Amino acid sequence: MTMTLPAFAQQDTLPEIMRAAVLFGPQDIRLIDRPLPKPHSGEVLVKVAMCGTCGTDLKIYDGHFPLTLPLGAFTPGHEWTGTVVALGETVDEFAVGDRVCIEAHHGCGRCDNCLSGKYTACLNYGNPTKGHRATGMTADGGFAEYVVHHVSALYKIPPQVSFKDAVLLTTAGTGLYGLDTAGGYIAGYDIAIFGPGPVGLMTVQACKQLGAASVILVGTRTSRLEMGRRLGADHLINIRARDPVVAIRELTDGAGVDLAIECSGAVETPQQCVQVTKRGGKILVVAFYPQPVTLDLSAVVRSDITIYTTRGEGGNNVKRAVSLAAQGRLRGSDLITHEFPLEDIAEAFRVMRERIDEPIKIVIVP
Ligand SMILES: [Zn+2]
Ligand SMILES: [Zn+2]
Repeated sequence: MTMTLPAFAQQDTLPEIMRAAVLFGPQDIRLIDRPLPKPHSGEVLVKVAMCGTCGTDLKIYDGHFPLTLPLGAFTPGHEWTGTVVALGETVDEFAVGDRVCIEAHHGCGRCDNCLSGKYTACLNYGNPTKGHRATGMTADGGFAEYVVHHVSALYKIPPQVSFKDAVLLTTAGTGLYGLDTAGGYIAGYDIAIFGPGPVGLMTVQACKQLGAASVILVGTRTSRLEMGRRLGADHLINIRARDPVVAIRELTDGAGVDLAIECSGAVETPQQCVQVTKRGGKILVVAFYPQPVTLDLSAVVRSDITIYTTRGEGGNNVKRAVSLAAQGRLRGSDLITHEFPLEDIAEAFRVMRERIDEPIKIVIVP
């Protein structure tokens, strides 16, 4: 028997027009009708079930993201999940009806970094003519009814993983990629995680599931810290009440932690990481900062500390996140505090910026 690839397979009843949120200028996002995008070779069309919002979306919304596409023609949204409804040419990895979640980045596949697997550091970042796409950042994203994505950055989700859990797996991939880069083998480690935002909270769960001896979660907001406890953190430190350096030294009998993970993006935190990491330990930075930060690099050298950084969810780590979720070891849905329909996306951004009703993860449902 010979197998032939379907040149183009799609669900029977696809509309020609879809609703999509389009950025027209700083803090001017409008819901408009757009033609249904067509998947090219290697791509699929996905009907979006929901799309998460994050700090990067606020930067894009405010006009502070360097590579934002032309105004009036760009749909943001880079943390989405949904169902495949059409296949581009050559696609046999997925079928119509598959439920999927994503990595945001599809590398060009031809630069030195892509060839060595570091596609989030693609040397052709932001250059679509070379094949690079970062959904919702340098290509149209998921604040829409439908979105096109390359199969290289797409993962099937099993039936026991809900869309609400799956929409956080892109976020989980950021922490897992960082752990991967920092050596991966963390069983028995004492770990401090700074910043109980969505990345920090997914990383708390990942560290516990990968065998960390103890996870100390450091933050400022009680509701987020308490969520961290529910997800497995052994110790909580609210820096409004306690100096985290003193508290972590106490909790580790003066030695410090094996690994400090910086997810907060607060400019004072990198130096605190230096002060709480034990001799020969590791610091992992996955946050972005509003300005340059200062830290005592001599202390890092003196203590033989290694600093790792990673950007986003690379190294196929969303695949690992899907596996952990399928085993019931990673819960995303707990972090979803707010849901908004697509037409209320501007209100969702306002709620996120003004932190109304203690949001952790706000999702948009088209
Ligand atoms: Zn994000
Ligand atoms: Zn590349």
